[in-house]
Amino acid sequence: MNIKKVNFNTSSTTFYFAAGISYLKEFVDVQHAVMLVDETVFTHHAKRFKDWKTIVLKSGEKYKQQPAVDAVIKQLIAFGADRKTTLIGVGGGVTTDMTGYIAGIYMRGIQFGFVPTTILAMVDASIGGKNGIDVGVYKNMVGTIIQPSFILHDLVFLNTLPEMEWQNGFAEIIKHACIKDAAMFKDLEAYSLKKYRSKKTLLCDLIQRNALLKTKVVIKDEFETGDRKLLNFGHTFGHAIENTYKLSHGYAVAVGMVMACMISEACQGFKDTNRVVELIKKYGLPVHQSYKAKKVIDVMKADKKKVKDVINYVLLQKIGKAVVQPISIDEVEGIITQLEKV
Ligand code: NAD
Ligand code: ZN
Repeated sequence: MNIKKVNFNTSSTTFYFAAGISYLKEFVDVQHAVMLVDETVFTHHAKRFKDWKTIVLKSGEKYKQQPAVDAVIKQLIAFGADRKTTLIGVGGGVTTDMTGYIAGIYMRGIQFGFVPTTILAMVDASIGGKNGIDVGVYKNMVGTIIQPSFILHDLVFLNTLPEMEWQNGFAEIIKHACIKDAAMFKDLEAYSLKKYRSKKTLLCDLIQRNALLKTKVVIKDEFETGDRKLLNFGHTFGHAIENTYKLSHGYAVAVGMVMACMISEACQGFKDTNRVVELIKKYGLPVHQSYKAKKVIDVMKADKKKVKDVINYVLLQKIGKAVVQPISIDEVEGIITQLEKV
């Protein structure tokens, strides 16, 4: 196990890397804690929760909505949860988002921490303090920015994670490598998903490196005015095709990264699109998707991250070095139409 405390502007988070969930008892009072556990995780790992008060959350993005929040709050009241209670979210990003949000509003805010159980939640969703829910079709429309007091990684949970969720998580890992870490990009080229799954020490190092990479970006820019925007690499186009073409988030981001590389060639003289494409393929992720440019542009125009008629596109100068370039929506439309694949 590796314990690391990191300081944000006004709070701190302690990471327990490569720990066991039972280690929670060393620093959380079981009597004053409630776990919110993803239903699938609970089904697979029921024994691991037997000492804890537990509320089971239905699995899936469609339950990251207000009715589920209300139901949890009622159960917390029934448990007699008060200001001294700590909430612990055990699951993927849906669970960590829900837990952080509920902890932020229950009795005007109680302590919380996470035990992320997907790769995506370990390297991305659990980090940064953004916690929120969807409102109908509008993703993450309502929420808070509060850092968790702790994040504990227990890799045993990953034994039951489906292949597709591994791939989704690795899309964000590849993203991190592209924007900030050329050495990690090389490691990813040298190894494979199979290798990481079979060699726990390699996987531990990779997950820890990615969790700390995102943490560092967030610490520099807790309220998203600068560097944190780089984490949107692959996400502008990715988000625009994710719902329209019913792709998983990781798949959409993978295609979005390839699109961003092509725009980077034109706007930043980027030369390594091919390496990015090969790496994405190596991890079982797609590199293209047929799309209708008009449809995609319509979604982009509605994006809440768009400022007036300009999109802040995250582009690569080289592998490991990203920049934000404002591009007019008309220009983006031109490029996307030119590259249209139907
Ligand atoms: P998820 O929580 O829906 O988990 C994916 C699937 O894996 C679910 O079906 C879940 O039941 C299952 N699962 C989880 N752990 C498992 C395990 N150990 N074994 C077997 N099955 C398991 O999704 P996710 O991909 O982890 O996260 C996506 C969510 O995270 C989205 O709602 C997204 O908005 C959010 N997110 C938030 C941030 C943030 O900064 N707050 C960043 C990125 C993503
Ligand atoms: Zn993402």
